[in-house]
Amino acid sequence: MRGLFPGSFDPFTLGHADIVKRALGIFDEIVIAVGYNENKAGWMPVEERVSTIRKLYADEPRIIVEGYTGLTVDFAKECGATTIIRGVRTTADYEFEMQLADVNRQLTGIETILLPASPQLASLSSSVVRELAHFGHDISAFLP
Ligand code: ADP
Repeated sequence: MRGLFPGSFDPFTLGHADIVKRALGIFDEIVIAVGYNENKAGWMPVEERVSTIRKLYADEPRIIVEGYTGLTVDFAKECGATTIIRGVRTTADYEFEMQLADVNRQLTGIETILLPASPQLASLSSSVVRELAHFGHDISAFLP
């Protein structure tokens, strides 16, 4: 079974890597899908995010990394993925993901599997990492 792990990954953090590692125990293959947001330029260009993540998983043939635009469910179908994978850190994440998962399932039948964040990584987000980098802090401890 092929799962799709979509996100901005701006940048890809240890929290994302933890979800990928755990999802590899559930799925045969995982497509890490880096979303283009037409309204946001982003911190790192999407092509750079894709190539960084590809390098990271160069030795893992079960992982595919692609950029995409448009609806996540459309891209999931295009990739032959049957399930969307998302991580949940907080109750706010949970409420948002529940709503999204329901719409996606009603629209296309694609299910979403939510993995609870590992406690030691639950406060890590790309936005915190960007903020630290902005103020000149070393962010390497948060990146895989
Ligand atoms: P998006 O803009 O789609 O939320 P992100 O790159 O912020 O993209 O996150 C992608 C996915 O990874 C989301 O499901 C998010 O909840 C999850 N995620 C982000 N950080 C962590 C973390 N520290 N632990 C577990 N899951 C995380």
